[in-house]
Amino acid sequence: MNKTVLLFCLLTLGALYAQAQRTTLIQRVRIVDGSGAALVRGSVRIKDSVIVAVGQLQALSSDSLIDGKDQVLAPGFIDTHSHHFGDYDDDPSALATNSQGITTIVIGQDGSSYAVDTIRKLLKNNPVAVNVATYTGHTTLREQVLHNDLLRAATEKETVQMQNLLAQEMQKGSLGLSSGLEYEDAFYSSTQEVIELARTAARYKGSYASHIRSEDITLDAAIEEILTIGRIAKMPIQVSHIKIGLKDKWGTARSILDRLEKARSEGIQVTADVYPYDFWSSTLRVLFPKRDYSNLASAEFAVAHLFDPNRSVLVRYAPESSFVGKTVSAIATQRNEPSSRTLIELIEKADSFKKANPTYAYGVEAIAAKAMTEEDVTTFIEWPFANICSDGRSGGHPRGFGAFTKILRQYVREQHLLTLEEAVHKMTYLGALHTGIKNRGLIKEGYYADLVLLNPDTVADRSSLGEPTARSSGITAVWINGRITYREQKPSGERPGVFVNR
Ligand SMILES: [Zn+2]
Repeated sequence: MNKTVLLFCLLTLGALYAQAQRTTLIQRVRIVDGSGAALVRGSVRIKDSVIVAVGQLQALSSDSLIDGKDQVLAPGFIDTHSHHFGDYDDDPSALATNSQGITTIVIGQDGSSYAVDTIRKLLKNNPVAVNVATYTGHTTLREQVLHNDLLRAATEKETVQMQNLLAQEMQKGSLGLSSGLEYEDAFYSSTQEVIELARTAARYKGSYASHIRSEDITLDAAIEEILTIGRIAKMPIQVSHIKIGLKDKWGTARSILDRLEKARSEGIQVTADVYPYDFWSSTLRVLFPKRDYSNLASAEFAVAHLFDPNRSVLVRYAPESSFVGKTVSAIATQRNEPSSRTLIELIEKADSFKKANPTYAYGVEAIAAKAMTEEDVTTFIEWPFANICSDGRSGGHPRGFGAFTKILRQYVREQHLLTLEEAVHKMTYLGALHTGIKNRGLIKEGYYADLVLLNPDTVADRSSLGEPTARSSGITAVWINGRITYREQKPSGERPGVFVNR
């Protein structure tokens, strides 16, 4: 080897070594570590995708320095019930989640999921700026085995087939089983069928997350059902987006929590997630809990007990786009009929549209329905075993862009219902615990460097029904797996999201 070649080799090795040693030091931050502990001033060092030191740190020669300017550094938020994954074809920079500080989303919710292999492939072909974990959906398993014949319970043999499919997904890293028992394609399943599937998930140390069978007229029975599943399958169970969607039961959140706490005292590992809005968004069909969509008496019941037509807005309506953004009562006035009649007409028209356009990819209709009280929402948010979720995606309901920043603005800064530390805990580590995500959700040595730098004095949601995709303010920077994905209200262009295994 001649001298020039030797020198070149040494230089290359030196450069490689220096590169391997590169670290980033985020200095002068108030660290809220996600555990619920009081914030401390200090610095955080990251190397590659991992946090390597936390505390009073001196800068090293390998450090690139970032001045946190005394803002709050928290673990990146974990959204335990998300529908954002469908947005990433159009927006791999994941603006809806990054702009509110979310770094990991949990998908496969409400009973509908992609296969783990499919998600991995999608992430590989189209990298995104968010980490993704998934449940395996009960309804999806039903579709694979029962095909179009979904308005009945599965047989024992079919249940075994679904268990086998679920076991394969669990081996590939699914978090567990999700269900959407309120929706038609799962509503006619038996509790036994769900228990058998939950047991399969439990065998792999997975959990069960459920949009329970009713959030309104038979809410109590639906709560009992999920508790039964948790008791028999002996596994963690999560009530998805807990709410009281029946006017007659408004104000009773405390008694529901008393029931859940009694179950916890008996050893049932029940928890919940919740989003901070008093209106939900879903198909109009859920306003007919008896699934009799043309029954006027049922429509009148919905208007009287299930939602407020004066404050409920169509957020999607393919058959008649001019209805989007209008309240049900405004459309009723326009049509010169009562809101109950309008409800029936809207569903009928949507049905015909769907039949005429069977390949229509997006949901044909959706409503944001004012159906809860702020008092109940607050009670659920304050429950120590409730973590925060968005249940959102881009557009429609403002939660898709604002759920997490709304918590920091309204419940922490304006109303003092939660301390900053409590709120961050509910948006990070608690969600990781409830879903079975490891090594994320804390600012701690060895944990992944998913981080959000925010200004606690200005952080705020800006999205509303009128402007559902408005970006939050006060989110200064977001790191995912050690790389900055969002800064100065803009995506950085980096897309380091990974699939997160159970
Ligand atoms: Zn749901």
